[in-house]
Amino acid sequence: MPDIVLASVRFPGGTACANIQVRDGLVAGITAADELPRGVRVVDFDGRYAIPGLWDEHVHMTQWALAANRVDLSLAESARCAVELVRSRISGPSLAHAGPALAGPALADPARTLVGVGFRDAVWDDVPGLELLDAATRGVPTALISHDLHCVWLNSAAAERYGMRPGADGLLREDAAFALTRELGRLPDDVVDGWVRTAAGAAAARGIVGVVDFEMTWNRDVWLRRIAAGFDSLRVDAGVYPEDLERATAAGVRTGQLLDGGAGLLSVGPLKVLIDGSLNTRTAYCVDPYPHGGRGILTVSEAELLALLLRARESGFVPAVHAIGDAANQVALDAFAAAGVRGRIEHAQFVRSEDLVRFGELGLMASVQPVHALDDRDAADANWSGSTGRAFPLRSLLEAGALLALGSDAPVAPLDPWLAMSAATTRYRQDRRGPWHPEQAITRQEALFASTRGRGRIRVGEAADIAVLDGNPLEVPDSVFAEMPVATTLVAGRFTYRGSAV
Ligand SMILES: [Zn+2]
Repeated sequence: MPDIVLASVRFPGGTACANIQVRDGLVAGITAADELPRGVRVVDFDGRYAIPGLWDEHVHMTQWALAANRVDLSLAESARCAVELVRSRISGPSLAHAGPALAGPALADPARTLVGVGFRDAVWDDVPGLELLDAATRGVPTALISHDLHCVWLNSAAAERYGMRPGADGLLREDAAFALTRELGRLPDDVVDGWVRTAAGAAAARGIVGVVDFEMTWNRDVWLRRIAAGFDSLRVDAGVYPEDLERATAAGVRTGQLLDGGAGLLSVGPLKVLIDGSLNTRTAYCVDPYPHGGRGILTVSEAELLALLLRARESGFVPAVHAIGDAANQVALDAFAAAGVRGRIEHAQFVRSEDLVRFGELGLMASVQPVHALDDRDAADANWSGSTGRAFPLRSLLEAGALLALGSDAPVAPLDPWLAMSAATTRYRQDRRGPWHPEQAITRQEALFASTRGRGRIRVGEAADIAVLDGNPLEVPDSVFAEMPVATTLVAGRFTYRGSAV
């Protein structure tokens, strides 16, 4: 006898309705829609579409939760505009425009300082001012950190809280700004954990059932603390960094292992190894020089990387090597080949044509973030000019036999799998700008496989990690797909998001 029946669901690609029987956290059976056992809880989905729950294979969960609780000022074109963004965040209701992934509570808790980030006053035609900010903030202590981190714009309430004396422009500069920025980042665990719960709830509402968390810390204990305090909306694979590998092996853990105290949700993630920088800072390690000189940086030598991969292999850790530039990807592939270990390359943003096939030969996963292709297309055109046909090469990687896995790298992009799948399948944002290298797009079916750990469809005997959608993900228009309405999400047969259907 099942515990619950998800009745009248359809599967993408099919037309007939079926019932999914869930027992002990697993999919116990899939039956015809008219077969309903008696005395069981039935939730009728009225022909909605069921898919396996979605995974985000690359997030920084604490950073994402912090970012979601800071006001993004990067698009403010003037001081007045920045102040308006702050005012709307304090009043709350206009939050909806930030999208479901960012929607959170209004940030007007007077016990906390409202923090904004990313303003660029150098390009404004007006100037920041203490009074200007005071007038918009109703006494809520407010501190806005500039894009380059070298200045902080305060209101009077924040100046008083932190004992600062800004001038009439409200600005602190250099050392005073750095000191206050550090202070603003120091938050009690329970505050941050509360924000993480909210952010995870928002992810569940987008159909997410699990994340690979690459937060740079000894992550296991952080998640055990959160789960002990009631966190239960996502599965978490908690990554380990090389500085903690000794500690992890001493604790007898290996990638994929479920952790005691993790309520069946917490597993040991991969070993994350960064070997180069990023495109925007021109530190991604490349074969050819950047237009302004330099080839970027290799932050770990080839010998060190090989030694790390060998240690990972010995101790049962799956390496996840961050490689963005084509030279970094080449180095990573060489190391995987020499170490004889399977694993993942994170980002794989720029790959030499002759290296693509090695992903398949070595059985590697390419863990990619399709939204970055749209965010970085100008930077790629400028820095990898003439070679962007092999930048963010999703189609080529798939055809070369790589296992493709999609993610967001939140907070770099929002933790929303539909934005990632939309970028992967259309290579454009839902705006007026045309697609970028559309030949590298993948199909929606492929994007769903890459977002469900290769499951693609719901099978009997697997965990009842399920997302039910209001539309057919293979048929809705691109604009709907990018904002796919999710009806319900379950993890191990338990509702983690109840939309209108439940
Ligand atoms: Zn990352």
